[in-house]
Amino acid sequence: MSSHLLSSKLSSMSESATIKMAQKARELKSQSVDVISLSLGEPDFDTPDFIKEAAKQALDKGMTKYTPVPGLLELRQSICDKLKRDNKLNYTPKEIVVSNGAKQCIANVCLSLLDPNDEVIIFTPYWVSYFEIVKFAGGSPVPVYAGIEQDYKVIPAQLKEAINDNTKLIIYSSPSNPTGSVYTEAEIAALAEVIKTKPDLYVLSDEIYEYITFNAKNPSIASMPGMQERTILVNGMSKGFAMTGWRLGYLAAPQWIAAACAKVQGQFTSGATAFGQAAAAIALQHDPSALDYMKEKFLERKNLVKKMLEDIPGMRVNDPQGAFYFFPNISSFFGKTNGTRRIDDADEFVDVLLDEAHVAVVTGSAFGDKNSFRISYATSNEVLIEAMTRIKRVLATYS
Ligand code: PMP
Ligand code: GLU
Repeated sequence: MSSHLLSSKLSSMSESATIKMAQKARELKSQSVDVISLSLGEPDFDTPDFIKEAAKQALDKGMTKYTPVPGLLELRQSICDKLKRDNKLNYTPKEIVVSNGAKQCIANVCLSLLDPNDEVIIFTPYWVSYFEIVKFAGGSPVPVYAGIEQDYKVIPAQLKEAINDNTKLIIYSSPSNPTGSVYTEAEIAALAEVIKTKPDLYVLSDEIYEYITFNAKNPSIASMPGMQERTILVNGMSKGFAMTGWRLGYLAAPQWIAAACAKVQGQFTSGATAFGQAAAAIALQHDPSALDYMKEKFLERKNLVKKMLEDIPGMRVNDPQGAFYFFPNISSFFGKTNGTRRIDDADEFVDVLLDEAHVAVVTGSAFGDKNSFRISYATSNEVLIEAMTRIKRVLATYS
């Protein structure tokens, strides 16, 4: 093994736990183990036909060449129109960069903005990749934790306390991966007031679950007074449009940040896939209510899973208002044993579920919370019922 030759930067990077668990489940399935995977955050729906049709037409028209690095002008204009229509925000195409997924947008931002002494406040529980991308880009991640008793939402006093002279960026997602929590307009406004007290402090607002919310209004922090010039709004096609495999995300930011991100991208990957971008432009021009059927299904599944989780003694759940995750607190199981095995932490808890219930979920420690685990409920009711039944049965053997 020559792993000692790998860069120290790489050696200190953790593998994505979501992707690792999904891979483990696939491997077990290929060995004929009847595994149910609730590990990956991916809609189970196919991309809507009108979007696929648009990609086919783009291919037939010969859209097979390189595109401008920040994206096709037609797509960037559609993104501006969408931001105006849905978020009441005014952007021009020069403030938009299209990338190979929102993941790349986040990497571009961190590589563009961070120097070694820069601190990045990450609302915790956080999505797995924020922490590792910040580290890899040379910044210092500073987790600010909000537990289930505050619906996993950071309050202004906590943010104020964490900000210091070195704080450059704040990263959070709303609706949140992994908790499903959604910040209300009043909560976002209060956070914005704290952020505005420090010059040169920016926010990366990850809004990739924007279209998957239940009852909750989901305002962007960019729409708060004085915040657009401090906000990097990240969104993408993966979740709301069920287009994970297309690899298309975008950001809207002050022009100097957008230009910096395009510069990074110009050296690393160039513009995203041409015909995919053409289809994304059509998708964004469409009335978003065409996607409501997915949201309705997610809501039905949320209610089903919530009921079944609440039926398991010791499981504490919040009431997620968006995305397609539950993030139950399982600390009451720590110290319990089935006679041969003991659950001491969330890592062991998810191993028990995989080994004994054949249900793959992701440990909370990957999201910065050692007391919880994540369930992705983006699958059918039948599969969810079977998974919850298995989990309940196995946990009943621990006392
Ligand atoms: N942000 C969040 C909160 C996510 O859950 C994900 C996972 N898909 C991403 C960003 C990245 O999305 P993609 O790269 O598929 O656009
Ligand atoms: N974002 C999804 C998740 O949280 C997909 C996997 C990934 O990109 O990490 O599961």
